[in-house]
Amino acid sequence: MSIKENLAIVRQQLKQAAIQSGRTPEDIRLIAVSKTKPVDMIRDALSAKQTAFGENRVQEALEKIEALTDNPELEWHLIGHLQKNKVKFCPGNFKWIHSVDSIELAEKLEARCAFAQKKINVLIQVNLSHESSKSGLQEWGDILQVAETLNAGHWLKFRGLMIIPAPNLGEISTRKIYEKIRGWRDQLRQELGSAEITELSMGMTSDYHWAIQEGATMIRVGTAIFGSRK
Ligand SMILES: *Cc1c(COP(=O)(O)O)cnc(C)c1O
Repeated sequence: MSIKENLAIVRQQLKQAAIQSGRTPEDIRLIAVSKTKPVDMIRDALSAKQTAFGENRVQEALEKIEALTDNPELEWHLIGHLQKNKVKFCPGNFKWIHSVDSIELAEKLEARCAFAQKKINVLIQVNLSHESSKSGLQEWGDILQVAETLNAGHWLKFRGLMIIPAPNLGEISTRKIYEKIRGWRDQLRQELGSAEITELSMGMTSDYHWAIQEGATMIRVGTAIFGSRK
């Protein structure tokens, strides 16, 4: 199957899951996760009108961004852990960062964005127990603190939460996790009084239909679009 055909299937399933849960398909952003995949594949997806791409390593992303600068409609999302020594590369390259998980990182990013005079939309990565990713915040108190720091920033726009649940938890447990972070997103919007805290980045190839039913506004799909990774 071609990338174009794969994209058509994912879009169709996104739409179906949205409609099944009484949501508007246009409210859910599909991020094509292109990590480990070559620039030619990104071009194929682009020609099928896919403009949002996710990468999990800064260095790899920068090489692709550089190779694709002739496509201003491209929107890059950093979805993997951000090391502090890579913060300086973010402004101007990423429109979204999904993986902020400390006050120090939030402050460094804000300072760098101010220096470059570039805005970035940011999410806090949450990590409830038993999850595969080692990144992310577990405690509500920590999440609130980082959210307050981000929200006070001028160049960073705090927009919501991201999560990567452990694989193979099954439908019930996975949906419970998604429901919980949706509740936290709502609570943050209320406590910080910001109407811009709207985003929930959750759902991958194996479970994006559940994530959409639980309120995902961004799904991060790699394998279903680009094929499996080695
Ligand atoms: C790789 C990756 C994805 C995509 O996973 P698939 O199962 O291939 O859809 C989503 N989110 C993050 C953070 C990833 O690293």
